[in-house]
Amino acid sequence: MIRLAIIGDPVEHSFSPIVHGAALSEMGIEYEYEKIRVSKGGLGEYIKHAIETKTDGFSITMPHKVDIIPYLEETDSEAKAFSAVNTVCIRDGKLYGYNTDAMGFELSLNDCGSGFKGNNVVFLGAGGVVRTLALKAAMSGAKKIVVINRSKEKAEEVCNIVKSKFDIETETGEFSDEGLCLGCESADLLINATPQGMSGCPQYKNLDFIDCLPKSAFVADLIYNPPMTEFLKKAAAAGHDTLNGMGMLIYQALAAEEHFLNIKIDMKKLYDKIRDKIK
Ligand code: NAP
Repeated sequence: MIRLAIIGDPVEHSFSPIVHGAALSEMGIEYEYEKIRVSKGGLGEYIKHAIETKTDGFSITMPHKVDIIPYLEETDSEAKAFSAVNTVCIRDGKLYGYNTDAMGFELSLNDCGSGFKGNNVVFLGAGGVVRTLALKAAMSGAKKIVVINRSKEKAEEVCNIVKSKFDIETETGEFSDEGLCLGCESADLLINATPQGMSGCPQYKNLDFIDCLPKSAFVADLIYNPPMTEFLKKAAAAGHDTLNGMGMLIYQALAAEEHFLNIKIDMKKLYDKIRDKIK
């Protein structure tokens, strides 16, 4: 039996237990999976508890993805590159950290025949996920990265991090009707990474900026609940290929399971089964 958890604050909304549960059941592995609310500053206490209760590993959501790093014995190359960890394995009382978020998104993007390579990538939002995905986009050969965010300083911070590691053009834009339209004009790949459109969150008041996209642009939303946000509906109605956040959620969980179980998983086969189960 494997003992796993997801920790964060808030954590109640997390679909992780459903996705990990579906994957483990599909593989015929007996498991316990807990959803544990751990507030900022509570990591040390949780880790002690996890070791005492012989927890094998845990997934991490806000606000601990960076704060966990000092507790780790080792991190993988992606976690190092992004300075963020979403998966921790506990082996012999020691903690090992991984990051499967960006890989999860890229795999789901590739499944749709899209990708970062050679593309102008426009991010809406500049939170933790954008920092990770912007670095991944640069790593995978994106041509240019544009970050449009409510607070400009955070957009600039993301661009500066990317530029400090990669020789790539970056730009920030204003989160206004005009700024969004301007940013979209040269986008090959537009990614909504704000919570706008998520159930229970504010909605975009004006989605006209989608009309500014080139016809061939691909449009993704990291939100998976609802599966089709107004943002994606508008993009699909305008003829764009679209992707929601479910693929990222499933793939990052499967990649995490590879670490927890220390096995290689047939990702594509399991992905299709889990997606059908969750539907
Ligand atoms: P985060 O660190 O909290 O950042 C949120 C970003 O959204 C910030 O840049 C913030 O702007 C912006 N924002 C928040 N409310 C807004 C509003 N009402 N209008 C405009 N901008 C707003 O969050 P995160 O961890 O990066 O996550 C971003 C999104 O990705 C969330 O929707 C999350 O659910 C989704 N996500 C999906 C997956 C998946 O597996 N599919 C995984 C992780 C995250 P300011 O900087 O101005 O505050």
